Amino acid sequence: MQYQTLAKRSVLRGVESGGATKAIGRYVTYCDEKGDRMTWLQPIDSVAVNGRHAVVIAPSLVSVEVFRVGNTYDVLITNHDIAQSSEGRRGRVESRVVFRGREGHLPLDLTGEDKQAAGQIVPEFFNKAGEPMEIPTEFMSVLKAAVRGANCLGCTHQHYLTAAKPKAAANGDAPLPDAQQEDRQVITV
Ligand SMILES: [Zn+2]
Repeated sequence: MQYQTLAKRSVLRGVESGGATKAIGRYVTYCDEKGDRMTWLQPIDSVAVNGRHAVVIAPSLVSVEVFRVGNTYDVLITNHDIAQSSEGRRGRVESRVVFRGREGHLPLDLTGEDKQAAGQIVPEFFNKAGEPMEIPTEFMSVLKAAVRGANCLGCTHQHYLTAAKPKAAANGDAPLPDAQQEDRQVITV
């Protein structure tokens, strides 16, 4: 949480980051409460790979975290809101877990052999009693993107946060960077 002194309000700051090596991967990205893409404040270019890719600032957001070891995945989707307090004082972050999946399995090598499936699938999760756990449908697109990020070797770009559309093209189809176009195709499949 950060405080905007000009607007006199508290906001949340999220940094989309992560990437992968063959053996492990981790990716964190953000969306709104409906699972839709948010626009970044700034993209981040970095010398190192698998690092920070973009910054988003908003009064509320949903974080989507994926941790992968081989073909085993942990997923955490959390809704973050700020309870604003009286003017001039910092608010308080209220976080609520939307979905938590542990040790889900996805028996494909999305970093290599099965790369074409990256961005189209998510691991399957079961609870301790062996029952399948439902991933909220509104977060499927962002989770697919984050799973792809957790399989992106030497990741240097954003997988879900997006650039603001130029004003002139607000009603048209502004071209997206390559990585995002691939994601966009996956969503429309
Ligand atoms: Zn990547």
